Amino acid sequence: MEHSNFIRTIIEDDLKTGKHDHIVTRFPPEPNGFLHLGHARSIIMNYTLAKDFGGTFNLRFDDTNPVKEDATFIDAIQKDIEWLGCPWDALYFASDYFETMYEKACLLIQKGKAYVDDQPAELIKATRGDLKTPGQNSPYRDRSVEENLSLFEAMRSGEFKDGEKVLRAKVDMASPNMNMRDPVIYRIQHAHHHRTKDDWCIYPMYDFAHPLEDAIEGITHSLCTLEFEDHRPIYDWVVRECEMESTPRQIEFGKLKMANEISGKRFINALVNDGTVDDYSDPRLVTLSGLRQKGVPVAAIHRFIHSLGLPKSEGETSLQMLEEEIRSELSSSPRIHLVKDPLLVTITNYPSDGELLTHAADAEETIMREIPFSNQVYIERDDFVLEKPNKKWKRLALGIEVRLMHAYFIKAESVVTDESGQIVEIKATYDVQTKSGSDFNERKPNGNIHFVDAKRGIPITYTEYEPLLVENADRSQSLESILNPDSIKTYQAVVEPAALTLPGPYFQAIRSSYVMRDSERAFHRVVALRSSFKG
Ligand code: ATP
Ligand code: MG
Repeated sequence: MEHSNFIRTIIEDDLKTGKHDHIVTRFPPEPNGFLHLGHARSIIMNYTLAKDFGGTFNLRFDDTNPVKEDATFIDAIQKDIEWLGCPWDALYFASDYFETMYEKACLLIQKGKAYVDDQPAELIKATRGDLKTPGQNSPYRDRSVEENLSLFEAMRSGEFKDGEKVLRAKVDMASPNMNMRDPVIYRIQHAHHHRTKDDWCIYPMYDFAHPLEDAIEGITHSLCTLEFEDHRPIYDWVVRECEMESTPRQIEFGKLKMANEISGKRFINALVNDGTVDDYSDPRLVTLSGLRQKGVPVAAIHRFIHSLGLPKSEGETSLQMLEEEIRSELSSSPRIHLVKDPLLVTITNYPSDGELLTHAADAEETIMREIPFSNQVYIERDDFVLEKPNKKWKRLALGIEVRLMHAYFIKAESVVTDESGQIVEIKATYDVQTKSGSDFNERKPNGNIHFVDAKRGIPITYTEYEPLLVENADRSQSLESILNPDSIKTYQAVVEPAALTLPGPYFQAIRSSYVMRDSERAFHRVVALRSSFKG
């Protein structure tokens, strides 16, 4: 599948003009959380661009921040990317470049392009100026190369406490681009790193580390999200001043943002920590592991991502678009009858113990299944009202006849209620001539409803996941005030026996949803058959 986007055009030009003969892209997650649908845009785009042009796709853990990172994320991220079907050609860790980065920082010092600053973080911030006012030079800006080198070495060897000194790039305190005003490129952090252990107590900052990582790996096109556009000058400065052999090009694209969904590591972490969701793979989350748990087919995610292309702006995307792709991906799943909220119907004139009705489970009629039928069946509680309310009601009501799909017409004659007045059973009659497949056409039923035989149907737990947030949630409010209190609905449902024997795990539960079989006794909804979007 060819998908055009502006980055593809850039790559095509670079190959045509001979700027590159082999392209290299990368996905550079920070191992500080789980991947979500937004990351899928970056993964799939980087992967597809590399593959479409015969290039290389790297996975690189951007593990330069020891405090927030954890090895468990490294495994989870790899598993998610494998699941997405975007295998990387090579795996790298930014922490493997710490020595090279240190040498490059020394090179900057030697060139008079970096200096050790003793000012505390607050003062550095306060003297950066703002868009209207230039920043003020640090009193330490003109330290000699020798002094800087020995101080930087002392920083590395652990002679100072956290925050006592930093290394800053010496660029331009009056630059209109704030990121060019002598950004901090190294800070002291006495912290244990999950890979380099206690080897280092200074760590490089993103603006210094990222361009070096890209250049070291020979990345040709470094895709990142729009908020880094203002960082491109410092990115280019670092590559140039560090005299890197290869010159990666940073290209920004818009983040994928899902309307009314919680994405973003910070929010997801908050939900996990306060127990709103059990873990990161909760099917209500748009984490990749949550989508996997929910049974979202990978092909649907790819189609969704490609259909949006690579916009240069950030708009909100509705989950409905992904749901459309899931529906089309699952549309040929075998059809079954699943009654979510069963109401018993006793067919008083049905003479025998029951029968087996043979019907196809698919449109091509290649998958046959036997549907048991007897004098007791379950229908959806929703499919019955005492009195037909209007012409649009194409379901059962007292005195009204409907078709039980694949079986017979039945007519509701009376109801049985319990002491609270709740209807617990419908007494109905059927008409033997109306058997499905016969050419009976004397009268039309008031609709077709599905059913499951009460004796041979299989009781299951059926779960429907609803959005975690209330509709049109005001994201400026506290998380707990906008959480949907009813985001998991569990039903004691019944399915026809074929739902256990047909190859799964996906089925179309007729008239309701695409569902997934989790076990012999548990099914859940992947997506409703029709969108509820009122849009
Ligand atoms: P979050 O925004 O969830 O905290 P992050 O940006 O901190 O995520 P990183 O691990 O830094 O996550 O991201 C890895 C890569 O994924 C980066 O190149 C980043 O640009 C990209 N990425 C992150 N979020 C999105 C998104 N919503 N849409 C597209 N790409 C994204
Ligand atoms: Mg980040």
